[in-house]
Amino acid sequence: MITELISVGTEILLGNIVNTNSAYLSEKCALLGLSVYYQDVVGDNEGRMRDVIRTALDRSDVVILTGGLGPTEDDITKEVTADLMGMPLKEDSHSRKLIDKYLKEYEKNNSQRRITKNNYKQAMVPEGAIVLDNHNGTAPGLILEKKGKTAILLPGPPNELKPMFEEYVVPYLQKNQPEIIVSQMVKISGIGESQVAEEIQDLIESQTNPTIAPYAKTGEVHLRVTASAENEKACRKLIKPVVKELKKRFGENVFATDESKTLEEAVIDLLKEKDLKLSLAESLTGGMIAQRIVNVSGASEVFGYGFVTYSNKAKHKCLGVKKRTLKEQGAVSAKCAREMAKGACKASGADISISVTGLAGPGGGTKETPVGTVFIGCCYKGKAIAKEFHFTGNRMRIREQTTAHALAMLRDCIIMGR
Ligand code: ATP
Ligand code: MG
Repeated sequence: MITELISVGTEILLGNIVNTNSAYLSEKCALLGLSVYYQDVVGDNEGRMRDVIRTALDRSDVVILTGGLGPTEDDITKEVTADLMGMPLKEDSHSRKLIDKYLKEYEKNNSQRRITKNNYKQAMVPEGAIVLDNHNGTAPGLILEKKGKTAILLPGPPNELKPMFEEYVVPYLQKNQPEIIVSQMVKISGIGESQVAEEIQDLIESQTNPTIAPYAKTGEVHLRVTASAENEKACRKLIKPVVKELKKRFGENVFATDESKTLEEAVIDLLKEKDLKLSLAESLTGGMIAQRIVNVSGASEVFGYGFVTYSNKAKHKCLGVKKRTLKEQGAVSAKCAREMAKGACKASGADISISVTGLAGPGGGTKETPVGTVFIGCCYKGKAIAKEFHFTGNRMRIREQTTAHALAMLRDCIIMGR
């Protein structure tokens, strides 16, 4: 079903609030198998709203409107939609009772607020509409059906819209939608986006159901495999062989097939599985890798020491980086990264360590060592290696990319036993 989202509110047009409702609804609609072809934003202006809603009802089967259901004069979404669909407004006694109940409760807790007559404007509903109770506010949601077209009106505040959508709109849309959509994520690290794309080009070219959509994240590539079928079981059956094929092609580089699993969680799982203790030696990231590691609950089982050695002196004093290395090769060098990693293992007694040293900029770059040059070192089983990277972007981006690649390299080193 062709679906269109209309967000009503001048404050969205002015950029005063971010349109999170449409992001939320788009994602939900996609999972329900609805094809969202259009999203519009319109201000609280009757003429322009009328134009947008008329066009939407013309070209789409389902139009979901959010905002403008409040009690004030500028809230006119319901009035305009009902008029366009030829469904006159009349008072709904059930909604009136709910509004009374909600406001009395509200008055009890907020003595300054009184029930005013305009609140009852919200009990006026288009004749024949399905009324959706609002348990978190006063404006009921509405579903208007006419000549094969459906308009769904939802309140603007996200804390009212989301529960209403889940409770009433999802079952309503599912009933009218013969197919559902289910997707599964395959998360990859240690390979760049273009290489991933190249290796699955044949799958992408021949895809129909399921489809494979790649998304690049910093230091990771995510592949979303999406199938549509009559129920979840049938979708999963379609997805299974595709995920199996992706795992075959990317092998150990697949770190998760669970949407919520992060790279740091996968790393910690692996450290626990192999019974390894980790330490970190960070320069340009200043603790960002440690931060991602300790984001994972239970990280203390495998992580005890993180060294932030920003200056040469600290690298020498805490990690034993040789003065000669710093003088001859500089702090931004493979040798320094290797010595940092080795020193971190030694100082902490850890089994494996990751080190990062590089130039985040914006200043300080030279022809030989431009901004974005980063060395990531890893010491495992007493042997240290280092890899050179060249990242782009501003200081923060370079530091984020360094962090992500350090985690990916850590995982790689454990798996390869290096
Ligand atoms: P109210 O009864 O509060 O007036 P309403 O249904 O009339 O609700 P609006 O007046 O359009 O909705 O918006 C009320 C508030 O809801 C906004 O100030 C904003 O905080 C939030 N809101 C509205 N639309 C959106 C949106 N598209 N994305 C995120 N938040 C929104
Ligand atoms: Mg309003």
